[in-house]
Amino acid sequence: MSDTLSDGLARLRRREPWLWSNPNWRPLRDCLPKLPFGLDAVLETEARLRRFAPLLADLFPELRSSGGIIESEFRPLSRWARAEGLGLDGRLWMKADHALPVAGSIKARGGIYAVLHFAERVALAEGLLRGLDDDFRQLNTPAARAAFARYELTAGSTGNLGLSIGIIGAALGFRSTIHMSAEAKEWKKERLRRRGVTVVEHRADYSAACAQARALAEADPRAHFIDDENSIELFLGYSVAARRLQRQLRALDIPVDGRHPLFLYLPCGVGGAPGGITFGARQVFGDHAICLFAEPVEAPCMLLGMLTGKHADASVYDLGLRLATDADGLAVPRPSRFVGKLMEPLLSGIYTVSDRQLYRDLQTAWEREEVELEPSACAGFSGPRRLLDTDDGQALLRARGLDAHLDRATHIIWTTGGALVPAEQHEQFRQKARELAG
Ligand SMILES: *Cc1c(COP(=O)(O)O)cnc(C)c1O
Repeated sequence: MSDTLSDGLARLRRREPWLWSNPNWRPLRDCLPKLPFGLDAVLETEARLRRFAPLLADLFPELRSSGGIIESEFRPLSRWARAEGLGLDGRLWMKADHALPVAGSIKARGGIYAVLHFAERVALAEGLLRGLDDDFRQLNTPAARAAFARYELTAGSTGNLGLSIGIIGAALGFRSTIHMSAEAKEWKKERLRRRGVTVVEHRADYSAACAQARALAEADPRAHFIDDENSIELFLGYSVAARRLQRQLRALDIPVDGRHPLFLYLPCGVGGAPGGITFGARQVFGDHAICLFAEPVEAPCMLLGMLTGKHADASVYDLGLRLATDADGLAVPRPSRFVGKLMEPLLSGIYTVSDRQLYRDLQTAWEREEVELEPSACAGFSGPRRLLDTDDGQALLRARGLDAHLDRATHIIWTTGGALVPAEQHEQFRQKARELAG
């Protein structure tokens, strides 16, 4: 084993917050020929979401104002930037996926898209639509709902994916069964049951819950398993975020180019969400998007997979870690089978965060910016500090020639969940943050 590898594994074992710089990063022109799909796949995904938009606007009143497009706000983190003292005033932003409509988390992008992709296929096969330019609002009729009710959606989840699939599935008329891992929060299960979703509770972790959901779905021809560990649809659903972000940046006259790099800080669980966004961002912004994933020190599955090159064949348990984190959305022992491989030339690095830090940032986000987040959603906040204020971060910046452009760079903290969290749960998060600080 090489020194850097054994040193890296030792740091992960010690649960030591770390910024790993990806030695396999490549310029986009070198990656493009090797990627299994490209910008056309992102555009096709966007087009499908546009086809469904009128239907979604009918199904969800909260989407009327956006014409059925599910998108989040892009807003400045002015007070945070001033208080942080990293010299980021005016250049630190939040992509507020914690408040994405319908599902209240980043899973509203991937989970909902994966269900729509399946619904379109069923609708065409069952004759509910004559073609892709037909009026998709016809899928909001008793006949369509009755047809969808003959199919069952199923998934393994740590909570938020189940929530997004269950909500959109129920709205269209599908039956849904969600297999929840031990980390899943009680309120997420309760919320789904109230919508008529079947919730199967597992005492095991997320990978095990997925495995069981997959096996059950394989035995049932009417069941459609949405496979968070392998799904291209989920991945592409997330990738559209980069195009939407590009429009938001343009509307604010924020440049992204060789002199104006764009840093994205993306919380990572199994990898689909941050991977899809990174894929989209590299397609849209080329080499000027510097994407960093954030994982809990107790569940650095993507870091372990990429560091060792073993991807889904490596498990954080092998390091003696136990997924002992309150970041339930990130509590995953093995990364997606295909995302890590795809990220090899695209991703700039991965850093790890302790729960103590997640709670500190949760509390500070509330005090400074009045946003209520779940712990998983806070992993982005320590990114700028890791990058700008540590030796590992400085080394990454120098190696990529980014240090010369730092005073013109834009930094985006991607907040990934929280809007559906009940008020008393938010209060408990803040209580815990105060205890850890005290
Ligand atoms: C699922 C989730 C993530 C990470 O997405 P993956 O696709 O699992 O990597 C981040 N934050 C929250 C709140 C999530 O629910």
